[in-house]
Amino acid sequence: MSKKQFKAESKRVLDLMINSIYTNKEIFLRELISNASDAIDKLYYRSLTDKNIKVKQNNLEINIKLDKENRNIIITDNGCGMTEKDLETNLGTIAKSGSLAFKQEHEKKKDIDIIGQFGVGFYSSFMVSDKVIVKSKSPDEEKAYCWTSEGIDGYSIDECEKEDIGTQIILHIKEDTDDEKYSNFIDEYKIKELIKRYSDYIRYPIKMEVEHSHLKEGTNNEYEKQIEIETLNSMIPIWKKKKGEIKQEEYDEFYMGKFNDWEKPLKTIHTEVEGQYSYNALLFIPNHLPYDYYTKNYEKGLQLYSNGVLIMDKCQDLLPDYFGFVKGLVDSQDLSLNISREMLQHDRQLRVIARNIENKIKSELEKMLKESREEYETFYNIYGTQLKYGTYDNYEVNKDKLKDLLLFISSYNEKLVTLKEYIERMKEKQDIIYYAVGETIDKIKGLPQIELVQDKGYEILYLTENIDEFVLKVLTEYEGKKFVNVCSENIDIGTAEENEELKKLAEDNRDMINLMKETLKDDVQDVRFTNRLNKHPVCLTTEGAMSIEMEKTLNSQIGNNDAVKAQTILEINKNHIIVNKLKELYSNNKEELKKYSKILYTQARLIEGLKIDNPTEYSNWICELISNVK
Ligand code: ADP
Repeated sequence: MSKKQFKAESKRVLDLMINSIYTNKEIFLRELISNASDAIDKLYYRSLTDKNIKVKQNNLEINIKLDKENRNIIITDNGCGMTEKDLETNLGTIAKSGSLAFKQEHEKKKDIDIIGQFGVGFYSSFMVSDKVIVKSKSPDEEKAYCWTSEGIDGYSIDECEKEDIGTQIILHIKEDTDDEKYSNFIDEYKIKELIKRYSDYIRYPIKMEVEHSHLKEGTNNEYEKQIEIETLNSMIPIWKKKKGEIKQEEYDEFYMGKFNDWEKPLKTIHTEVEGQYSYNALLFIPNHLPYDYYTKNYEKGLQLYSNGVLIMDKCQDLLPDYFGFVKGLVDSQDLSLNISREMLQHDRQLRVIARNIENKIKSELEKMLKESREEYETFYNIYGTQLKYGTYDNYEVNKDKLKDLLLFISSYNEKLVTLKEYIERMKEKQDIIYYAVGETIDKIKGLPQIELVQDKGYEILYLTENIDEFVLKVLTEYEGKKFVNVCSENIDIGTAEENEELKKLAEDNRDMINLMKETLKDDVQDVRFTNRLNKHPVCLTTEGAMSIEMEKTLNSQIGNNDAVKAQTILEINKNHIIVNKLKELYSNNKEELKKYSKILYTQARLIEGLKIDNPTEYSNWICELISNVK
């Protein structure tokens, strides 16, 4: 059959593999063994429901053969095999690709990052070999097929001879170079060590033909060679071992191999539950968000085993959406092997396990927050947004569960704080949790509205993510203390005396204010004097549920086309000299007052980072003012 080309993205990953500077090339073995084990799982699981497929449980195994003469390592499994079409789709394309993210990221990131994002899989064979042959036979097809590739040039698929169902992979190992001793990979000791290190837990025996030299009987210096078949792995799933007997490195290796990650997990949670329903769970929080987390392609879920037999690869029902980034597995002896996916959804036991797992993850995070703050903040910087979504997802049922896991940056130390910490530092009689919203901390600090609140010694939460304010709206209060945006009109921090003064000023200048209001009637709800400002002349505040930042966020969403509008109020600093100027203009030049009203309003918009309707007009006014400066 003629040679076929790899799909463009596969080609790029392949190119990275072939020319990889990555030093850890040995992991190719872990990847191939893991694929073999998955394939056996699949066949075994099928055999439970499909009478046409017969497997003898005791025969399921992975076999490794080293052919030093030809520089080959041959890995054979008696798993589900691949049809001609499977070979084409599975090995000709990268299953996880097709996403635009790859192309964009590719330019920015280095080799290892990309490999890390994609997981390595089958293509890692090309890190150590210059020719790869995959012979495979599926129970669904009469014939066996052989996939061959020497790398980037493409691959071919031809019919071949293969009696047993399963897959055989033949790697031709590269010649040694100054930097890399590829011959290691056809060395028995090295292979034994690698299997022990990376694949010990694999449930099926990994067997290898090993040559032993024995002293020849009746002699004392003559040796004879004997071939023995050795099983290289202990076959005990790591999650079934006692917690105390497992080193963190073992968990890390297991995680990286099983879940195709280049990085160690941020957190490992291993739990064994005995009771009405017994199960083991081994959960990992990855050190980064999966690259496709925000795409449709991402599927949350845990692997589900019934007493060591994989029955589902991604059981979604085991994880709430807001913990969708957690990887891992659950193994329960109480689950029936023959249970169908549809039935699983309604399975009571599964629901109980899911609830327990949710609580377990939550309590581990609470513990981390309490005992290992730095680690928690690392976690939060990666996954905080997920938890925030969790508060209002699903009709807000989880908000109370999650509120204590949330962190916000605070004016107190410009670091992340919990709501509880805020409350504990509150001033006596303070019954409000203040917050301010902006794109960055610096922008928030530049907001006129925060001046006085801060001057009076109140702590302010700085919300810099779009979602933050929505979260606080969902929570509405924490321990009876309401959340209030410092930019909303219903903030009252003046003393009785100050408020009295303000009232008088408003009364004395009612007509002027009315004129300004009339001038700006299409833009603002009201014009008022305020005592919340210190140095700044004006600011915009809002009335009602919608804040200016929410308006920005909602309008930036596709299809909204500036559909929503916050109800704004132009506030004028009662102590600013601008007040005198306004009064003067009201007496002498009402037209000018109207213009100045518009200028002040536009300035307030600019400070908020809002668009202005007519920048040219504004610019002309300012130029006019500048030209008048003596
Ligand atoms: P992944 O294992 O992460 O899906 P790989 O690139 O390693 O990615 O493998 C691609 C696909 O090829 C697998 O999902 C599987 O369907 C198939 N495959 C790989 N190795 C085998 C094997 N030994 N037996 C059967 N199918 C296999």
